[in-house]
Amino acid sequence: MRAAGIRFVIIQVKRLIIQRKQRLTKSNLPVSDYSVNPYVGCTHACKYCYASFMKRFTNHGEPWGEFLDVKLWPEIKNPQKYAGKELFVGSVTDPYNPQEESYKRTRTLLEQLKGSGVKLSIQTKSDLVLRDLDLILGLRMSRRL
Ligand code: SF4
Repeated sequence: MRAAGIRFVIIQVKRLIIQRKQRLTKSNLPVSDYSVNPYVGCTHACKYCYASFMKRFTNHGEPWGEFLDVKLWPEIKNPQKYAGKELFVGSVTDPYNPQEESYKRTRTLLEQLKGSGVKLSIQTKSDLVLRDLDLILGLRMSRRL
């Protein structure tokens, strides 16, 4: 839909991805030991997005920025095993995309990591992150928000 040069896109959550466990993926990034992405896709849809290559793996027909899959996972068992490790949240999605306000998957992740001693980095362009300051400040911050 277009109006006065503005393109409106209706985003629908496409899938709920149910994982047997939350995978903190070993990371090759110099800033982290592990990375985690609570969503597939990113509805901020930045023109300059470096993560749009992910569409090759997601099996979506829509352009990058017009779909979002929400990941669901059970409680992380023994989160203390990540103590002292650096965890990067949001390497190929924004963990505080607008849908996070309802789905709270990033907040759930932070709740599950409470007391783990993991060192946290969060990449976001959204001030929704401020909602979770209570949890973030309770975790050891590694680098920055
Ligand atoms: S917020 Fe980040 S991941 Fe999301 S579209 Fe923009 S650059 Fe890509």
